[in-house]
Order: sequence, then structure tokens, then C-alpha cells
Amino acid sequence: MTGRSKLVAGNWKMHGETVQNRNLLAAILTGTEGLKGADIVVCVPCPYLAQTQSLLQGTHISWGAQNVSHHEKGAYTGEISAAMLTDFSCRYVIAGHSERRALYGEDSHTVALKFKAAQAAGLTPVLCIGETLDQREAGITEQVVAEQLDAVTGLMGVNALTRSVLAYEPVWAIGTGKTATPDQAQDVHAFIRRRIAARSPEVAAGLQILYGGSVKANNATELFDMPDIDGGLIGGASLIADEFIAICRAARNELILE
Ligand code: PEP
Repeated sequence: MTGRSKLVAGNWKMHGETVQNRNLLAAILTGTEGLKGADIVVCVPCPYLAQTQSLLQGTHISWGAQNVSHHEKGAYTGEISAAMLTDFSCRYVIAGHSERRALYGEDSHTVALKFKAAQAAGLTPVLCIGETLDQREAGITEQVVAEQLDAVTGLMGVNALTRSVLAYEPVWAIGTGKTATPDQAQDVHAFIRRRIAARSPEVAAGLQILYGGSVKANNATELFDMPDIDGGLIGGASLIADEFIAICRAARNELILE
């Protein structure tokens, strides 16, 4: 037993509309009621934060956003600050999702600044790291995730990770239906934890490291059973109530339930 609780975070990406959101959140609330030992989060598009807050306030489900500006405030048209997210009682924000890195040119330094801005406002950043298929095939997976991780620890120090969540998301597994095998994922999770442990065994032992990449109801249990996988960051399946509920159930820590 690791002592770490499991976390399941849904990433809705650019999906949603008010009626659909209401139905989805109502179904997830009912379907996960009484589920102990697994924290649940939904990261929704910013226009729906107010709706999400009003539907989830006081429930067992937390909410967050998918991106944040690294600036505190000012003339940054189209950007959303960490303080604005806390204004809607967000608890989490995703930082450095591979789609942001690949499509919007966010490099590891920018992601580290976003991580810093999020924490400064009291949010818990969910830092995403992971390699592309080319990088995996070139045998540089560990080098890539180390660089992405070190950008944050270099800026903030290793102890900053205590108020964060990590998500290992191999880019080749995101939205592709190709999941990493439990052993493949565990190997990288263990590498990440070892790297952090070299600087702080306590931080490494307490850190939740999620796996993301085509997690579905039918593969969640075997992934979540691995010793260094502490839950999942879920894209496509977080939009389907039954799938997401089943994934949350798979993350339930039976030992805590008893
Ligand atoms: C994600 O968006 O972070 C993700 C893992 O997506 P999917 O589950 O659809 O692969």
C-alpha cells in the first residue's frame, strides 16, 4: 500500500454545452456518490466554470480549468489568470497538456511559469509530461520527461511538487485509442518517482502521479493497480458518464473503503 489516495481527473477539452454539461455532471454525481478513496475532478472549458461551480459546490467532486496564463493580470487579450480561476473556486488547473505544448507552442519554461502562477494563486497544478512516438522510438522517453519535469523543479524547487499532481501522458496514447501497457506506464512512473526521490524521498513518496492516454473503463483497473500509478487524467472517456463513473470506481482504493 502506498498511502497515496487515487485521483481521477476528467479533461473535457473543447467540448460541452450547458444542457449536456448539466446532464453529464448530474449523472457523474449520482454514479460516484458514496465512492470513497478516490478524489474526482472535472477540468471544464472556462465559459462553463460558473455553471460547474453552481452544480458541484458542496459535493464530493472538485473542478478546475485546462490552462492558465503565467501572467498575473494585464494586457493579455484572451488569457485567463489564476486569480480568475480561484474566483470560480477552481481547485486544480492543468499545466502543459501536450496539446498546449504541440499546438500552442508552450515550451517547458512557459509551462513552469504557469505552474508557478497557479500555485501562487492557491491552485493545484496538474503538470503533464510525456514523450511523442518518435521520441519513444528513439529511446529518449526518460530524457524527455526528465527535461519537462526539471523545468519545474529548476524554477520552483522540488518541494513545490508537494502542492501539485503530475500526469504522465505519452503523446502517442492521447486520443488515439492506443493505451500504454500497464508495464510501459509503470516503468515511466517509477522513473519519475525515482528522479524526484533522488532530491526528496518524502516529496516523491507523497506525490500523486496520474496516467493519461486513452484510459477507458475496460483498461483502467489494470493501469491503476500498478504501484506508481495513482489514478488517471481522462480525456474522451470523461465525456461519457458511464465510462467516467466506471473509471472512478476502478480508482477506488479498497483498503481505504474497508
Ligand atoms: C487527455 O486529454 O489528457 C487524454 C488523456 O485524452 P484521452 O483520454 O482521450 O486519450
